[in-house]
Amino acid sequence: MTTDETPGRSSRVALVRLLEARGLTDPRVLAAMGAVPREEFVDADLADVAYADSPLPIGGGQTISQPHVVALMAEAAGPGPDDRVLEVGTGSGYGAAVLAQLAAEVHTVEWDEALATAARERLSRLGYGNVEVRTGDGREGWPERAPFHAVVVTAAAEELPQALCSQLAVGGRLVAPVGGQHDDQSLLRVRRVADDEYVREDLGGVRFVPLRG
Ligand code: SAH
Repeated sequence: MTTDETPGRSSRVALVRLLEARGLTDPRVLAAMGAVPREEFVDADLADVAYADSPLPIGGGQTISQPHVVALMAEAAGPGPDDRVLEVGTGSGYGAAVLAQLAAEVHTVEWDEALATAARERLSRLGYGNVEVRTGDGREGWPERAPFHAVVVTAAAEELPQALCSQLAVGGRLVAPVGGQHDDQSLLRVRRVADDEYVREDLGGVRFVPLRG
């Protein structure tokens, strides 16, 4: 066994090929997807399917997002190496780990205390020293850490939470699913182009669990 034959490596190579085939092009995002060991973010009995391009249960009725969606959101939010990122909905911590490969700092807020604690321990064990996890209502953002160059929301709200837009740096990008509980959600990207000017784009239909609270 050579040194790069770490567990899951060949599955990650296959996942990256699949993401390329599905239209993902950003080389930094593809490298991040190829680096994060997704099997570490699911229960041991799901390790076999950890690299399938599908959401998986993580307990409490929540899911770890499908890799394609994680990559799409990272590409749309476009965090640079010096950027500070806010994630709403830590879940397993997988999305935060992908963002942590791309940005300088990731601050992530999770509603469910048990999920937040598990994600914090897992990210620390895997060496993600640039991720900070907090329990709370992510609709309020994280004012003490703002402004953010990128904001990624991983649960759907009927309306875009205003606090999240106001915590964007000028030039920053927010990516969030917006819409009802069923199949009428759209992935929105909001760019803050000036202090009081935001540009909204619809990136297409998606399906996320609802934002709680
Ligand atoms: N990014 C996660 C996906 C999590 S699914 C991953 O990679 O595993 C969405 C998560 O958002 C769930 O864990 C859910 O508990 C959390 N969530 C829902 N409403 C929230 C809120 N108001 N504030 C913070 N987190 C919330």
